[in-house]
Amino acid sequence: MLDIKIIKTDAPKAKPAPGQKLGFGKIFTDHMFIMNYTEGQGWHDARIVPFQNISLSPAAMVYHYGQEMFEGLKAYKNPDGNVYLFRPDMNAKRTNNTNDRLVIPQIPVEDFVQAVSAVVDVDRDWIPTEPGTSLYIRPFIIATDEFLGVAPSKTYLFMVILSPSGAYYESGLAPVGIWIEDEFVRAVRGGIGFAKTGGNYAASLIAQKKAHDAGYSQVLWLDGVERKYIEEVGAMNIFFKIAGKVVTPSLNGSILPGITRDSTIQLCKDWGYEVQERKISAEELLEAQKNGTLEEVFGTGTAAVISPVGKLRYQDDVMTINGGQIGQLSQKLYDTITGIQTGLLPDEKGWRVKVGG
Ligand SMILES: *Cc1c(COP(=O)(O)O)cnc(C)c1O
Repeated sequence: MLDIKIIKTDAPKAKPAPGQKLGFGKIFTDHMFIMNYTEGQGWHDARIVPFQNISLSPAAMVYHYGQEMFEGLKAYKNPDGNVYLFRPDMNAKRTNNTNDRLVIPQIPVEDFVQAVSAVVDVDRDWIPTEPGTSLYIRPFIIATDEFLGVAPSKTYLFMVILSPSGAYYESGLAPVGIWIEDEFVRAVRGGIGFAKTGGNYAASLIAQKKAHDAGYSQVLWLDGVERKYIEEVGAMNIFFKIAGKVVTPSLNGSILPGITRDSTIQLCKDWGYEVQERKISAEELLEAQKNGTLEEVFGTGTAAVISPVGKLRYQDDVMTINGGQIGQLSQKLYDTITGIQTGLLPDEKGWRVKVGG
């Protein structure tokens, strides 16, 4: 249990007007959570303070060797007037898996959830309520030792910032075009692909740019060894519906274990689908597309929830999926997951966690 000191702002900012286009990750609330780690002392000085710049030495380790991690989750105001998080314990557990890989000290699961809940509670009036909107929550940890040697830092900052956000993609649930990248790779087994850390994103930008320049909105990565098997999309896991079965790459160490991925698998199984977590090659997709069994393709991730894919480019082939339309399963998953998150549907799995008293 953290003892969180709260210092409220005396200069609250204007909140976005109802109906204002929020975009993603551009607007920040009045407060943030911050907590220090010092070797020998552990995590200490948990506090909620006005949203503000932080000051670090230019030699702070995070700037040089990238020892940092982040998470992403959302809060929703439900019709009952209460505020809920979606499976925040999963983000807390994943934080510790990431931290272990990057030699960052663990944070107890209860403390992580408490920190997130506490700051969301303070800024609950910032949660937008129009359809498709939510409060995006970004917890992160950075290494702060003033030191240019390569070693794990002895001091860290854990912070949580909040951003009222609209739909992740401007195009909403409209199917996106995806570029299967066969030159650059994102991660390899034994590396940091399963960890939620900035380094993976730094490595991804060049291919993202390449895809954008060619008119595609996202990159689909192939495995780092043979560049043959499908891994995941930029910030999403990927699913295929092939001949009635739901197929997604297995978590092999180089894929980020998405919470939306896990929720999607559970729901599909409940609905009676056979779900296969296995290797799937780009060639197999092409084959399925040619024989008419590639029925749906969609990405899963907190930001977009479900993102239908209408077009997939692999080398010289451009595959159109489901006539470029949203598939039935994609739509049902989107409606069900967002329905549970926003309180329009019952929470049979206990995925909603209430914020505050
Ligand atoms: C965060 C993330 C995902 C999706 O995870 P969710 O928990 O579903 O939001 C997928 N891939 C990458 C690379 C990510 O960083």
